[in-house]
Amino acid sequence: MSATRRPEPKRLPARQSGSSSKQGEFLDLVIDAIPCMVFVKDASDLTYVSINRLARETLGVREAEVVGKTDLAVFSPEEALRIQADDRRVVELGTVGAVLEERLETKRGIRWFATRKVAVTGIQGGPSSVLFTFSEDITERKELRTTAAMWDQVFRYAERGIVVGSPNGHTLEMMNPAFPLMLGYEIEELAGTPLMDIFAPEVRANVAAMLELVRRTGQHTFESTCLRKNGTTFPVLIDATSVKDAKGHVHHRAIRIQDATLLKSAENVLLADRFEAERANQAKSIFLSRMSHELRTPLNVILGFAQVMQLDELNDLQTESVGHILQAGRHLLALIDEALDISRVESGQLALSLESVNVKDAVDEVFALMQPLADAKGVRFMADANHNHCFVVADRQRLKQVLLNLIANGVNYNVPGGTLEVSCAPAGTCIEISVADTGIGIPEHSTDRLFAPFDRLGKEGSEVEGTGLGLSLSKALVEAMGGTISAKRNADVGSTFTVSLKASERVDASPPLARETSGSTPGRKGLILHIENNLVNFRLVEQVLARRPGVRIIPAMQARLGLQLARDHRPDLIILDLHLPDLSGEETLRRLLNSPETKGIPVIIASADATPRRLEQLLKLGARDYLTKPIDVRQLLKLIDELLPAQDQQEPG
Ligand code: ADP
Repeated sequence: MSATRRPEPKRLPARQSGSSSKQGEFLDLVIDAIPCMVFVKDASDLTYVSINRLARETLGVREAEVVGKTDLAVFSPEEALRIQADDRRVVELGTVGAVLEERLETKRGIRWFATRKVAVTGIQGGPSSVLFTFSEDITERKELRTTAAMWDQVFRYAERGIVVGSPNGHTLEMMNPAFPLMLGYEIEELAGTPLMDIFAPEVRANVAAMLELVRRTGQHTFESTCLRKNGTTFPVLIDATSVKDAKGHVHHRAIRIQDATLLKSAENVLLADRFEAERANQAKSIFLSRMSHELRTPLNVILGFAQVMQLDELNDLQTESVGHILQAGRHLLALIDEALDISRVESGQLALSLESVNVKDAVDEVFALMQPLADAKGVRFMADANHNHCFVVADRQRLKQVLLNLIANGVNYNVPGGTLEVSCAPAGTCIEISVADTGIGIPEHSTDRLFAPFDRLGKEGSEVEGTGLGLSLSKALVEAMGGTISAKRNADVGSTFTVSLKASERVDASPPLARETSGSTPGRKGLILHIENNLVNFRLVEQVLARRPGVRIIPAMQARLGLQLARDHRPDLIILDLHLPDLSGEETLRRLLNSPETKGIPVIIASADATPRRLEQLLKLGARDYLTKPIDVRQLLKLIDELLPAQDQQEPG
């Protein structure tokens, strides 16, 4: 502020003429140079005599606007009243007021000031008394104080132990209350002690290595073991950081220590739970395997003998009765298979072999299988040409199982003269395979129920036989292959089921090894060893083989006897059941394949224990093929025709 710009002040003595005017200018310069806001007021009426440069700039006022006026000219009415009350108190006492912190509205918004007022009396020629107010902006300092206080609280009340160590990390300098509490000490007992003392002796070398790592990398988290004052130890989780100055020099180590006792015990509980879950899964797997065996064995007998009866001349009534037995038996078999499959998928027991599958191949195979049913129902198959170019990531057999179910439904719930169309289209990273029919359609609002097990949506009494499990199994299979399945009512007629699977690269299909059998069945000759402990099953195979008069069969109801007979008679084929009283099926197979006398003899596994993984293992071990029980008589005959020499073939040598 320059004296020339300044208007004539109210009554300040320095503004008088002569030497006193010089003094006044000097006084103005001094006041302007003070690095805080300075207000000079006439103590008698609290009107402004002067206001320094910093105050003018901070509050955005000009001197002429305020000199001779009260605080109302500068501040809001409330602020002005408060300031005047403070002023009066100091003037009345004629003293130096205490420092008070006040919030003032400034050009930069609300700011905090430390204000001190000084009442001065007896200035010569001037007002009998002058009030000086000095206000220093402390906003930043106050914020810093608030932040520091906040961090102090965080530090003080943190549940984790926080400790600040010397730069080399060797001594404990500062710590929060949680830290000594965790170790059973008082703060005073730990301050200045070596950091290593708080760790169990056996982990100290490791802690030193970890702290060295912190020195190099700036931060590291590790697990360790702390030592309490009473000598007991407990697991801890440590997070250590280097505290650096502006130049990047490490001046301290900050270490946060968390008592990990609970975490560790939770981890142990989780491990125990996982172990228990795995054990339960194994138990479930064994249960499934046994269930499969127990249910299929009697069914094997029912279906097997019914099929044998069918091969004979029967009158109409007998044919019908046998038909009923077979139909009911197959229904039961479908139920068992589907229920077991769902259970396997749900328990993660289903072994899937995911590969690139050509949708066209799968659809063609299923169409071929379903053609007789479609013909019988008068339903026409159609395929969108696009499906030639679709390859998906799937288990070939399981994809066919899903398509078989959707296409069978599309035929069964269709109308005579209807159509069923399979189409295929890319959708993002997936391929959507849709099966659309022109049938009776899904009842309105029932799409959710479609995939629920055993819900046949009221079709129980209808002529279409079913288990109500097909769609729920399809859903489980598709999801196990990483895909989705959905259904919708078509706007016009029928319904569409869509399976979405991950698209895959095109691969040149290696066609599945199709088993070649002669259409006509020339007589076979040879010797079969049947190792089976169930007499009824044995009888069944015996009756089937009665159709091949040149084939002789020797029974063995125990594995060891079977092995002996195999060595003695060198049969042309061995049919081996897996559940034998004296040796396991695997072991029997292994011995047959390892013995020089028997290793060349083809072995067919016949078992009700139909888990695919087990059968796969046995094939890997060296079994030639397998028959799942209930035995499909035609399949057994086909295998015999394939593996035994024709009757008219010359004996070698
Ligand atoms: P199932 O066919 O053995 O009864 P699914 O689980 O395959 O068992 O199907 C469940 C039910 O969904 C069927 O009973 C039928 O009511 C209905 N459904 C399935 N597919 C179709 C379809 N294409 N058209 C009409 N209804 C269908």
